Amino acid sequence: MALELFDSKEQKLREFVPLNHGHVEIYLCGPTVQSEPHLGHLRSALVYDLLRRWLVASGYTVTLVRNVTDIDDKVLVNAGQRDWLEFAREIEKSFNAAYENLGILEPTHKPYATDHIEDMIELTKKLISLGHAYQAEDGSANVFFDTSSWPNYGELTNQKLENMEGETDASFGRRSPHDFALFKAHKADEPQSASWQTPWGLARPGWHIECSAMAKHFLGESFDIHGGGLDLRFPHHENELAQSKAAGDRFANNWMHNALITINGNKMSKSLGNGVSVAELSKQGSWAAIRYWLISANYRSNLDYQAGSILEAQTALDRIIGFIRRTGLDREVNLAALPADFIAAMDSDLNIPAGLAVLHEKVRVGNQAIDNASDEVVIAFDAVRAMLHVLGLDFALLQKQVEPELIEKIEELISKRNSAKGSGDFAAADSIRAELQGMGVTIKDMPDKTIWSIDG
Ligand SMILES: [Zn+2]
Repeated sequence: MALELFDSKEQKLREFVPLNHGHVEIYLCGPTVQSEPHLGHLRSALVYDLLRRWLVASGYTVTLVRNVTDIDDKVLVNAGQRDWLEFAREIEKSFNAAYENLGILEPTHKPYATDHIEDMIELTKKLISLGHAYQAEDGSANVFFDTSSWPNYGELTNQKLENMEGETDASFGRRSPHDFALFKAHKADEPQSASWQTPWGLARPGWHIECSAMAKHFLGESFDIHGGGLDLRFPHHENELAQSKAAGDRFANNWMHNALITINGNKMSKSLGNGVSVAELSKQGSWAAIRYWLISANYRSNLDYQAGSILEAQTALDRIIGFIRRTGLDREVNLAALPADFIAAMDSDLNIPAGLAVLHEKVRVGNQAIDNASDEVVIAFDAVRAMLHVLGLDFALLQKQVEPELIEKIEELISKRNSAKGSGDFAAADSIRAELQGMGVTIKDMPDKTIWSIDG
């Protein structure tokens, strides 16, 4: 079976055929470095990290571009009195640290929007010369894309122009509320350093033109896959597609959008104040466990965060790592050992939950082989090791090892505590909890069980 990916423009599964034999080019919208990373950012980066690892495991070479939007309204606002670029670089460091901790591979290119202003000016000039963009009617340096000039506008999200919501802010010389900014005129209250000399006056680029220009700079007029979070589909990606195609480029051949993260079933949002920070997560389990949790749902389904999510992931991961250690084997990663049903799961639009099920089944079979002193253990080891590698979970093997005797002791204490609680002796239960804490063990009571993890 060949790799099939869900094309979110065509809204169907398509066999993936790269434009250039053996090589895949991906453009992924990176973060706007305006505030600390949240779970949604990490999930998005991870989905495409997995895609890339799977393509490489399948024999392709991959070029992955993930931009950094370092100039934006929100960067300027959130920087406050500070130098905005210094502020943007500092936020970017938090993103990079989180990516690195989660084992996300470095993209091939990580361009800054501010390093590609010339590319954006060139693209905008071309759109004006082709009649698809115009300088603001009020004579300012604002430049807009003329949506009425592009009959395919709306093709990505399958919407008709007349049904779309337009911009609600004052027109700034816009001909239609649907027209979007390619360049924004410098405002007197913004720092001079946040504007560039353009043929239309002092201005800074709009968000959408940044990605079109950088994609073209690094990948040319066509490339294989454009990815991003579902929240970027409209208007960001719709606008990228319109302006690139109107400029005569073929642009992305496949579109991929990952679903979002919910918190106890609710949308994560600043206004709800239910965001979970990366720092909070890292207290609940190893980075490998956080990675395991973030990839555990299908990328097109929402992933719901609940108390105990990371601990549960830690337990599942510890079971896998426990098997590897129990074998006492140390063998090179051999991708030829990947089980056929794991390959089939990954080829089926990166069906990670199905892939993880194969992984856990192999661990079960492997543990049984150890119990039976069977040679099958080597086969299971190679398969598990190869799957861990493809999923980017190798680094879990470096995490602190928990001795089996310690596990036994912890579970004994937890069971004593639960009986104390059951008989209403809460003082005893609390003192056992304190004893566990002294051992560096964090426990969490779930409706049907108590789960635990070891700090550090
Ligand atoms: Zn983008």
